[in-house]
This record gives sequence, structure tokens and C-alpha cells, in this order.
Amino acid sequence: MTLALHGIGVSRGFALGRVHLLTRGKPEVIEYAIPRPYVAEEVERFQNAVAEAKAQLKAVRARIPDNVPADIASFIDTHLLMLEDSSLTVAPTTLIRERQCNAEWALKTQRDRLIRVFDAMNDPYLRTRRDDVDHVVDRILRVLLSADDEAASTQGDGRLEGRVIVADDLTPADTVLMQHQGITAFVTEHGGPLSHTAILARNLRIPAVVGIRNARSSLRDDETVIVDGEQGVVLTAEDDLVVAHYRHRQRAKRQERALLGKLKTAPAVTRDGVRVALHANIELPNETHQAMEGGATGVGLYRTEFLYMNRFDAPEEEEQLECYRQVVGALDGHTVTIRTLDLGADKQVDGGGGTGPIATNPALGLRAIRLCLHDLALFRPQLRAIMRASALGPVRMMIPMLSSLHEVRQVLRLVEETKQALRDEGHAFDPRMPVGGMVEVPAAAVSARLFSRLLGFLSIGTNDLIQYTLAIDRIDEQVNYLYDPLHPAVLQLIFSTIQAGQQQGIPVSMCGEMAGDPRYARLLLGLELTEFSMHPSAILEIKKIIRDSHAGELRDLARRVLNCTDPDEFPELMSLLAH
Ligand code: PEP
Ligand code: MG
Repeated sequence: MTLALHGIGVSRGFALGRVHLLTRGKPEVIEYAIPRPYVAEEVERFQNAVAEAKAQLKAVRARIPDNVPADIASFIDTHLLMLEDSSLTVAPTTLIRERQCNAEWALKTQRDRLIRVFDAMNDPYLRTRRDDVDHVVDRILRVLLSADDEAASTQGDGRLEGRVIVADDLTPADTVLMQHQGITAFVTEHGGPLSHTAILARNLRIPAVVGIRNARSSLRDDETVIVDGEQGVVLTAEDDLVVAHYRHRQRAKRQERALLGKLKTAPAVTRDGVRVALHANIELPNETHQAMEGGATGVGLYRTEFLYMNRFDAPEEEEQLECYRQVVGALDGHTVTIRTLDLGADKQVDGGGGTGPIATNPALGLRAIRLCLHDLALFRPQLRAIMRASALGPVRMMIPMLSSLHEVRQVLRLVEETKQALRDEGHAFDPRMPVGGMVEVPAAAVSARLFSRLLGFLSIGTNDLIQYTLAIDRIDEQVNYLYDPLHPAVLQLIFSTIQAGQQQGIPVSMCGEMAGDPRYARLLLGLELTEFSMHPSAILEIKKIIRDSHAGELRDLARRVLNCTDPDEFPELMSLLAH
């Protein structure tokens, strides 16, 4: 009988291979007292462990093959930087001295503090970056405890060739090492679409399914499984028919990829002549190269949060400008849309009636533009850096999470103030740099006609728009099943935003995950979307769909979907629009 395990497919494609169970658990840490005369020695033991962890990571980094995308090395660089950060190198030594406790316990205590800070962040991307802290701390702990690192010890012996790795979670270093070993797919118990494993797997084009809670207890070492990264399912390959079916799909996929490569320089134009812009979403400056390689004609979303990560001070204006300079330079005349900081914040309110403090819902709290307008010392250097970058090439500034006209006006006023300050100081900038807003909150979509009169462009952030419209936390695995881009309410909001932009004559883009999902490309074309921004690896597939489509026909179908009042007719119409 075939066993099916369901998780979240985070990297497309299928793989068939034998399971390699990575059984490594979390290092066990207990507290014990260090007598005062030995405290200095314990501090030294800790410092030596940090140095050893650094040496290990440097060795991993040196082994990254040249053909691996640059951002993979940068994940490891991030971990190396963290191993230099005082929050992980100095704070534990202070704890060892003050509490006279062992190095492992001090490190664990500090880890817990840092994780609490990350957990309180609202931004799902940053919240998942708590994994970085976890991974780096685990590496130091393993050195302190002299624990065996199976992932590291399997290098070079060829044991992983063609294997499906099944693990609780993987670090970027594990991922790189194992990819180098020729592994064929990943399955993890933890993580979501925004976890490192997911991002790396997508970039490396390795099929991956994450979030299968019981993967390691349900699968046996060496048994053959099929990993379906599209459906998010892992099947035990006991039925020959199922195996044959997947082998066929795998072959077809390979052929398709080869054909897609030929479309890199082909225009994204529908059969009836509608031109579509295909842009890339990036998180790091060096991803621009991958974007250009993938056939992008610009960056539709540069998530600048990464600049603020893994550190405890905000980046200065000059540091930011340097990053933006790199991106603008690499894009060679194509436009980059720099999104201002989309960070969340923790905030506690006192509950009434003596029930104690109640945590506010951070998704509805002081996040993104709300936080920036609240903390101008944080926001101003970024505004200045983005505007100064506009002197170097085509730049657009994009504001996340707008919900009211008042915020739009506040931002525009700040932009004008910044322009004046830059002029006074003799800094160059493009006075016509477009300032646009993300449509991520239903209120913004409903008010898009008002917003679009003040803004230079709109970009629909479906990841959040769906979360807020359907009232589901996008990273809560328990309500994942309700996350539905095709919900009629979501489609109405998307369409009314596109129409508002058209009426006002400003561009409307979409930069949420929906834009890069081939299942929705025809529907979005039918809704008259002409600017898509997505992960670079998705661009060619979407381009192919666009080139095969007739926009006029899809428009008629999409109208029927929007006007459909018969619940039985809806799925049928959707199937006509499906890819
Ligand atoms: C979105 O919400 O769709 C979006 C693109 O922004 P992020 O995923 O960074 O919140
Ligand atoms: Mg968003």
C-alpha cells in the first residue's frame, strides 16, 4: 500500500530516491555550576568553540561549487557574521561570569533571549530567520559537546548520491554540503515556505516538501519514496503504477525545463499582442544576477529587511546606499523597486480584569509603514538612501502595508522633506522617482481609487492581502488549508485594484507568491494584470504561459468568474482558467 505524507511543497519538481534519515536531534543542554577559580577557563572553552564553529563554516564555504547561486554562499556568510556578533560571542561570556554557569547553558540562555525577540517580530520572513540563530547556536553547542555532526561527516563519501534527505530541519551549511553530494530531494519536519531550506531548495531547483511533522517516524531508512514538491506530498513507492507515473512526469519536466531555457530573451507577449512585464523579487543585492539570468526585466520587489537582520543596530544611510548601488548597477538600466522596511514589532497591552498581559496580534500591530512612521529615526536614513540611489539608475520606492490615506499623505510629505534636505546638502537624486504603495490590506484595495490618485504605482502583495482578507495567519500551519488565492473576495479585491490603477493611468503590479504560480497566471492575465513580480526561477514558466495565452479570451472568462453567482458554476469556470 502506498503511504502518503502531506506537507508544504516549497520547491517544485518531483524526485524519486531512497530515503536517508538524518536522525540528528537537538543537542541536550543541562546547567551546572562552575567554581569561581575555573570561570576564566570556561570562558576560554566557549571562545574556542566559537572559533572552531567559525573554522567549520569557513571550510563549508570554501567547498561551495562555482555553479551554485551566489546567495547560497551569502546564507553561510550570514552565519559567519553572526559568529562575530557580540550578542552570540560576548553576551554568553558575561553570563558565564555572572552566573558561574557552564558555557552550554549560557549559550542556550542567550539563544532563548534572541529567539524571543525574533518570535515577537511580525514579518514572517524575519520570524523564520530565527532559524539562523538556532542553527548557529547549535553549531557552537555541538562543538562544546563534541557531538557528531552527521551532515558534516557525510561529506565526500558519496553516501548521499541520489538520496532523499529526511530531517527535522536543515541548516544552510547542511543544505550546501548535501547538494554538493548529489542529493535528490529534501523532506523536513519543520519549516515553511519562507524557511531557509525552502529558499535554498527553490534556488537550487531541488524538489522539497517541508512541515511533515512525523516524517522521520513514518519513513524508513533506505525505502524508496517519491517527493512531489508541487503537491507537497511524499509517497512511498510501493506501487509500480505510481512510480511509472512519476517517472513519466519527471521526464516531461526535464524536457520542459530545457525548452524553457530557450525563452530567456523572448518577449513576454500574449498571442493577441498584450505585452507583460516580468520582474523578479529579491532579498539580497547579489540575487540580481540570478534575476537577470532568469530573464527578469527589472526587480519588482526588493525586500530590504535582510539589511536589518542578524544585527542589533539599524544600517546607516551610507551602508544602505551601497547595497542599493550594487542592485542598480547589476540591473543595467532596468528598474528596481525598493520596498521600505517591512518589519513588525512586539507590543503588549494589559488585559482588563486582572487577567494579566495579553499579547496583541502583531500582524495587526505596529508593522511595516506603521512602524516606520512611528520611528522616523529608523525610517529617514532609508528614505534618504533610496532617494540617493535614484540618482544612479531607475529606482521606484514602494511602501508596504498602507491602510489609510493619512499614511499615504504622511509618507509623501516625508519624501518631500527628504528631497529638500538632500537638495540643501547637495546630494543628487531623481526628483521624479515614483513612490508607490503595496496593496496588502483589504482597506487599501477597496480604497485603491483614492490611493492611486496620490501614488505613482500600486503593487498587490497577495501573501498579506489573502491573510487579511480571509483572516488567516499566513504562517499558522493549522489554518493553512484556508489560504485560498482563488477566494471570490480575493479576486474581487485584485480586480478592483487593477481597475483603479488603469483608471488613474498608473502601473499595477503583483509581487505576492500568487504572481509566480503557474496555476494562476491565466486568471491574472484575464484580470488584466500586466506586471508580474516573482522568484527569478519562476519567470520562464510564467513567460511560456503568457506567450501561449490569448488575453482577450481570458478576459471574458475572468469576467464570468467575477460575475459568477452560481456556486456550482465557479469551479467549472476556474478549471477553464487553470493552467
Ligand atoms: C506580500 O505580502 O504579498 C508580499 C509580497 O510581501 P511579503 O511577502 O514580504 O510580506
Ligand atoms: Mg507583505
